[in-house]
Amino acid sequence: MPLRRFLAVSAAALLLGATSACGQEANGSSGGRLDVVTAFYPLKFLAERVGGDAVRVSQLTKPGAEPHDVELTVRQVAEISDAALVVYLRGFQPAVDQAVAQRSKRGFDAGEEVELLPAGEHDHEAGEEHQEGAGHEGDEHAEGGTDPHVWLDPARYAAIADALAVRLGTIDPERAAAYTERARTLHAELDALNGEYAAKLKTCARREFVTSHTAFHYLADRYSLKEIGITGITPETEPSPQRLAEVAERAKATGATTIFFETLVSPKVAETVAREAGVGTAVLDPIEGVDESRADYFSVMRANLTALATALGCSS
Ligand SMILES: [Zn+2]
Repeated sequence: MPLRRFLAVSAAALLLGATSACGQEANGSSGGRLDVVTAFYPLKFLAERVGGDAVRVSQLTKPGAEPHDVELTVRQVAEISDAALVVYLRGFQPAVDQAVAQRSKRGFDAGEEVELLPAGEHDHEAGEEHQEGAGHEGDEHAEGGTDPHVWLDPARYAAIADALAVRLGTIDPERAAAYTERARTLHAELDALNGEYAAKLKTCARREFVTSHTAFHYLADRYSLKEIGITGITPETEPSPQRLAEVAERAKATGATTIFFETLVSPKVAETVAREAGVGTAVLDPIEGVDESRADYFSVMRANLTALATALGCSS
């Protein structure tokens, strides 16, 4: 190695050593911006909107990938260790939960900021090994028994934005007012979205909708709808033939016109049920990953609202 290059590398190594020797203050910031690691798209969107130009946001789930079963690279685990803040949702991605528990004291668990609904409240297990109406606690949803899909409720999502602003303000007090201000703007936009949903879904011919994986329970709960999920809260679960037949029956009985499938997993299961029930299919996107060149949280939420209102025969 030429001497000059050797010296440069040594200097960099020294600098690196000096930086980590300073401990916490030196960690997690680059060029005055805080390094914020986020677990998947809706949390990335929140961190970008609330953090603005004060943060540098990265995402652990590859854009467009299904996030439930994400696996982390060695580099990503190191990013988690070094981040000023790790924004995640405990119980959603086991690999992230584990890395945060082992490698970071600077985790922000979005699920701690809102009331979570129990996973077992879904309809999707009824009629299998469970008695109708019996409690579904303690079944396959081992991880604490809560449903992680909170971002599909604009009100809960707004509450998480507010809490994130507070947290960023404690890490970076000089810019606390800016975080609060950006969260207030986002909160107002989410309130408007909530208003659109409430108005459009107020008067509908039907209130039950069938989805492939059970991701829309918070949304259904907010707007007095009922979701019938074909698979469980993780999309990989293979539904039994009985389950498919049962959902098709239920869809027919409620006069459903549409079985929803989603963008990141195969539509096969939804198509099977739709064929059996003699109805069509359409997309309802759980916003677990978004192609950011074409869409964002708000555009997908509005597309979902249009799809739901059409399928349910809503009048306004
Ligand atoms: Zn999901």
